[in-house]
Amino acid sequence: MRILLLGKNGQLGWELQRALAPLGELTALDRHSAPHGADFNRPDTLAATVQALRPDVIVNAAAHTAVDQAESEPDLARAINATAPGVLAHAAAALGATLVHYSTDYVFDGSGGTPRTEDAPTGPLGVYGASKLEGEQAIRASGCRHLILRTSWVYAARGGNFAKTMLRLAAEREQLTVIDDQIGAPTGADLLADVTAHAVRSVQQQPSLAGTYHAVAAGETSWHGYASFVIEWARAHGHPVKVAPEAIRPVPTTAFPTPARRPHNSRLDTRKLQAAFGLRLPPWQDGVERLLTEVLGH
Ligand code: NDP
Repeated sequence: MRILLLGKNGQLGWELQRALAPLGELTALDRHSAPHGADFNRPDTLAATVQALRPDVIVNAAAHTAVDQAESEPDLARAINATAPGVLAHAAAALGATLVHYSTDYVFDGSGGTPRTEDAPTGPLGVYGASKLEGEQAIRASGCRHLILRTSWVYAARGGNFAKTMLRLAAEREQLTVIDDQIGAPTGADLLADVTAHAVRSVQQQPSLAGTYHAVAAGETSWHGYASFVIEWARAHGHPVKVAPEAIRPVPTTAFPTPARRPHNSRLDTRKLQAAFGLRLPPWQDGVERLLTEVLGH
């Protein structure tokens, strides 16, 4: 199997380099790659790259993920999250290749309090969500065989992340305020990459499994619950923590005004993915504990 991975150095792209390697001949590119270009601002080069490499599977981990910044650069967000995936999808369709793409709970409006299924009505609240939804639609309209995995609250050991920020603040400050009215599931890029590898193999063997799936770790929490879990783990394992448990104060989203509105309910129902691929998605705490062990040492 020939696999083309795009966006190889993002949180997910980095883990996909590891998880996809045993499946076949992997070519992993980023926007600076040559001679085969993979700059999502230049969709023509993407099509040429796909035509030159003739992959069986294209995995797109590139995206404009700066949610607040997207509000002030909608054209760029749309080019990267919608136009370029559409170009990839048409190139995949022409080759008979499978396109794997990632989307987000931000395609929904975040109302209600129950997990959404894949066919729930969409209603993005901002530019990022709208551009990701448009990307999904372009892929479906192309007719290519595809896997669209919608996920949420992605973290990775490599690079900056929410847990590392909370650990730093907890060591510096005696008080912390963290949002408690957005609910979702922190999901490791490593878990997503492993799920992708399983799903790719399955779809190559059974093309009827192609489609849209929700892929997040099991369980749910708020950003406040996530922060408290991280900080209490660090305290219990002897790492420097200045903030007392009762000084991690829950606050509503309105306490931190941002350019982009964010969904309150980011819960995604993953039963379809687990049933189709015979997978079990572990509790979010398992992945976060692994992250903490990797970041903090023990
Ligand atoms: P990252 O922001 O870590 O990585 C995105 C990657 O896209 C980076 O490597 C970046 O490259 C690349 N990229 C950006 N612009 C371009 C461009 N013009 N040309 C080529 N590459 C470009 O994102 P994640 O790994 O966290 O996200 C992976 C997927 O999951 C995305 O589809 C995202 O929408 C989705 N998702 C992410 C969530 C999250 O919480 N992070 C939540 C829900 C869904 P460079 O480093 O050079 O800028």
